[in-house]
Amino acid sequence: MEDNNNRPPRGITGERAIDIGDIKVTPFVSSRFRLDGGSMFGVIPRVLWERKATPDSMNRIDLNSNSLLIETGGHTVLLEPGMGSKYDAKQSLLYALGEGDVITELARLGVEPEDIDLVLATHLHLDHAGGSTVSDGSRGARPSFPNAKLVVQLEEMKAALEPHALSRGSYRRDDFVPLVDNGALMTVEGDVEVAPGVFVEMTGGHTPGHQIVRIESGGQEAVYPGDLVPTCAHLRLNWLMAWDLDPRAVYARKGRLLADCADREALLFWSHDPRVAGCRIKTSQAGYYEIDEESVLEANK
Ligand SMILES: [Zn+2]
Repeated sequence: MEDNNNRPPRGITGERAIDIGDIKVTPFVSSRFRLDGGSMFGVIPRVLWERKATPDSMNRIDLNSNSLLIETGGHTVLLEPGMGSKYDAKQSLLYALGEGDVITELARLGVEPEDIDLVLATHLHLDHAGGSTVSDGSRGARPSFPNAKLVVQLEEMKAALEPHALSRGSYRRDDFVPLVDNGALMTVEGDVEVAPGVFVEMTGGHTPGHQIVRIESGGQEAVYPGDLVPTCAHLRLNWLMAWDLDPRAVYARKGRLLADCADREALLFWSHDPRVAGCRIKTSQAGYYEIDEESVLEANK
């Protein structure tokens, strides 16, 4: 018989957990990888971006998939499953994929796949949805979290199932088709409260159905802008990724979002920053947004 007393308490992660009102939020790194630095900064010249992110000999920069475990009203929610573990040796080398994935990292927090009630992804690109399924040998892939549905925008599911030619390489069917087949993909439209105090908000821009996540409780607020602002180096409004399908929409939404978060002193969590899991932002003397160093939550602790 299973002895539940030997299991660490769910999601009790000591100093890593942050209280947003009554909601407990634990940042953790679900994947470490590298991508071409140019692709991460679009038209921004390397002489500028390399001051923020040092490229390796293949011009790649370090990136994380920064995830959140959110405990609210009896629900255990995973925000962003990261790259996952379905990569062969050649692909792992290409992305310089580090060891570990969302399942091994959750286990370190005392959380088993069965404990997760709900999974949220900002969009279905491979570095965000990969961990939502695991390899099932010759049968392909199966859902990683047997008791959870993955919530994405309807628009995003459509974009992933029939991708535009420009984003075909960013979607891998094994990351989400097994969820569709198992009734484990839940689509929403627009802005929806998906768990107590946890809201998804449709933004589009990076992908047609990109969404951000806002966490609100007891007058406190945290925001996960996903790939609208993937790292702190992207705080300049015109520092956009070459991957953005609609850069004008990203620019507009990002401007409104950062102004709002600076005003309200919301805690921001970055999807890909290799150093900073979360922080508050402020306006610098030059009129740009910058991170408030005192508020930094290190990603790699
Ligand atoms: Zn991404």
